[in-house]
Amino acid sequence: MKPGMLEYYAPTGLDEAVTLLSQVAEDGGKLIAGGQSLIPMMNFRLVRPPALVDLGAVAELTTVELTDAQLSLGAMVTTATVTSSPEIRHSWPLLAHAGTWVGHEQIRNRGTVGGSVAHADPSAEMPAVMLLADARFEVRSTSATRTIEAADFFCGYLTTSLDEDEILVRLTLDVPPAGTRWGFCEFAQRHGDFAEAGAACLLPPGGHPRVVAFGAADRPFRASRVESILADGGDADDRTLHEAVAADATQAGVSDRTKLRMLGTMMRRAITMARD
Ligand SMILES: Cc1cc2nc3c(=O)[nH]c(=O)nc-3n(C[C@H](O)[C@H](O)[C@H](O)COP(=O)(O)OP(=O)(O)OC[C@H]3O[C@@H](n4cnc5c(N)ncnc54)[C@H](O)[C@@H]3O)c2cc1C
Repeated sequence: MKPGMLEYYAPTGLDEAVTLLSQVAEDGGKLIAGGQSLIPMMNFRLVRPPALVDLGAVAELTTVELTDAQLSLGAMVTTATVTSSPEIRHSWPLLAHAGTWVGHEQIRNRGTVGGSVAHADPSAEMPAVMLLADARFEVRSTSATRTIEAADFFCGYLTTSLDEDEILVRLTLDVPPAGTRWGFCEFAQRHGDFAEAGAACLLPPGGHPRVVAFGAADRPFRASRVESILADGGDADDRTLHEAVAADATQAGVSDRTKLRMLGTMMRRAITMARD
């Protein structure tokens, strides 16, 4: 199937895009970024926006800014840029690595970091890394600019705290301190499929470990019990770790026993990867 008839707008600047969105959002008009999630949903008529505002020509949204302290990505930075940029691979190797698990090359070439985060698929890699990084999201509408913390952004399955007339403009992550170890692991039926369960961790030297699980609940979630075990320096045995993951996941709403077991295994592998 193909999408229904719609109005199409192609702004060339952010102000214009914000204005156009404000005019169409009330009737269900939407933004389109890489189209890699939205177009399939439109083809299946799962969504029928009467208008699309294409962000593809908005140059302000494609910039990458890196300092010693922060990495700042415009929302239209593609996943392919995240995986291939030497600067990002150096400053945020976990982010670049996680990007290689997003779909296939063609999808990474068009799909954007902002689109993935705004789409908020609970199995997607970028939202999980943003939560792990405590990223801040700058969003704009005609009436205001505000910043949303990643922890407050993902509200449930394909649901975020973005208002309908807001554009996600920029994602900012603190650069992990030198010597930070990291691990990432996910299980999917085939490489390029969405994760059925995944885990990512950051172990900063002398800092508090951070651990995120994804693919199992309705959104990515911090695994705080696992973080406590790691903070205590404990080299937990498999059983203790599985119990901690299971408790964190149950609190996040996961009840499927297979998912719980998969999460435990992904967690163990991510932690092992970080420590090796
Ligand atoms: C075969 C296939 C396999 C895939 N596998 C994976 C995978 O393994 N892992 C994974 O993470 N993803 C996967 N994807 C999805 C892919 O990563 C998408 O590119 C991504 O989820 C959405 O990014 P996009 O730029 O294409 O956004 P779009 O599809 O254009 O938009 C998605 C949603 O976000 C909104 N949106 C987009 N940009 C903004 C913005 N700046 N501000 C506010 N709202 C915005 C749109 O209105 C829309 O509702 C796959 C896709 C396909 C087709």
